[in-house]
Amino acid sequence: MKKPVYLDYAATTPVDPAVAADMMNFLTLDGVFGNPASRTHVYGWQAEAAVENARRQVAELIHADPREIVWTSGATESDNLAIKGVIGQRKKGGQAKAHIVTSVIEHKAVVDTCKWLEQGGVEVTWLRPDREGRIAPEVVAESLRDETAMVSLMMVNNELGCVTDIAAIGALLRQRGVLFHVDAAQAAGKLPVDVSALNVDLLSLSAHKVYGPKGVGALYVRRSPDVLVEAQMHGGGHERGMRSGTLPTHQMVGMGKAFEVARESLDAEPARLEELRDLFLSGLEGLEGVHFNGSREHRVPGIVNLSFEGVEAESLMLGLRHLAVSSGSACASATVEPSFVLRGIGVSDELAHRALRFSFGRFTSAEEIEFVCSQIVDVVTRLRAVR
Ligand SMILES: *Cc1c(COP(=O)(O)O)cnc(C)c1O
Repeated sequence: MKKPVYLDYAATTPVDPAVAADMMNFLTLDGVFGNPASRTHVYGWQAEAAVENARRQVAELIHADPREIVWTSGATESDNLAIKGVIGQRKKGGQAKAHIVTSVIEHKAVVDTCKWLEQGGVEVTWLRPDREGRIAPEVVAESLRDETAMVSLMMVNNELGCVTDIAAIGALLRQRGVLFHVDAAQAAGKLPVDVSALNVDLLSLSAHKVYGPKGVGALYVRRSPDVLVEAQMHGGGHERGMRSGTLPTHQMVGMGKAFEVARESLDAEPARLEELRDLFLSGLEGLEGVHFNGSREHRVPGIVNLSFEGVEAESLMLGLRHLAVSSGSACASATVEPSFVLRGIGVSDELAHRALRFSFGRFTSAEEIEFVCSQIVDVVTRLRAVR
């Protein structure tokens, strides 16, 4: 069976072949399989060297010091560690009151972590984005209180592809002395990310959104002045005590290589994706009643969210047999609720039920985009005709 064209890069990316090749060298007897925490023999030392090389590769993409990188199992864990870790540390320090500022269109890993803390008595302010899905710095400024412990916002929204002005928000939070956590799972490798220029204190990363393997990620934790994060996983005291557990060397190597490739591609890849995006949108120009969700100006090129008047997203996806896309976000697609992100930017329930997210990346070709456009035009026209 010929597989459908993959336009769901925001859900996950295929592992880059160069990444997979590197990872293979860290598994078997003839490879570097040792425990990176083993200090007594060469097996351990080699594994540790590989992990530290990967840590440097990850740090370089975001202009951090390698010592500021804490390995995790993915951005979900990084988000949990950042938010629960900061609040836990604050409570340990005797400050009973805590207040978090976040938004209604964050990834579930942030939304549900904050809801869980809210149930435990932490106060949470849920900011609303503008119609484009961006959080305005003034809205953040107005939400701050004396007891605000942290602000957590995403850089690039996974459903809309819009980009929030993290630098402006970072500058104002630094001035107010409030910690800033940024989920950059969809930003890394797509936009330049510089943790110092952005004034970010904690930053979540995932490998599998950047052509690395699933099941590995990282949390950037600022040093000097040290940001203190209470461990959520207890054990051997790995990762400066913030995250215990034996490091899966091949996963670290994979993420490191993926981030190195991403850094090398940062000059040329966005322009190529921009061309594909133009091709995609112009290929749909003949179709009436198509609504664009998100920001036309402040966005990454590889994510396009569109609502098609008069066609349910579910029927459209069924009709588009040769195309793999998402309606709403992948994590929410087990439920029939319209996307909370689309609702959050004021899209009507009707149009939210008619929205599809198209996301493409490194291995998408112009031929695929042209094929996809002709399919969409055909299926939408056909579905509208039988209404
Ligand atoms: C994918 C994603 C996550 C979750 O990352 P995992 O590594 O799959 O846990 C968190 N935040 C955003 C914005 C994402 O796109």
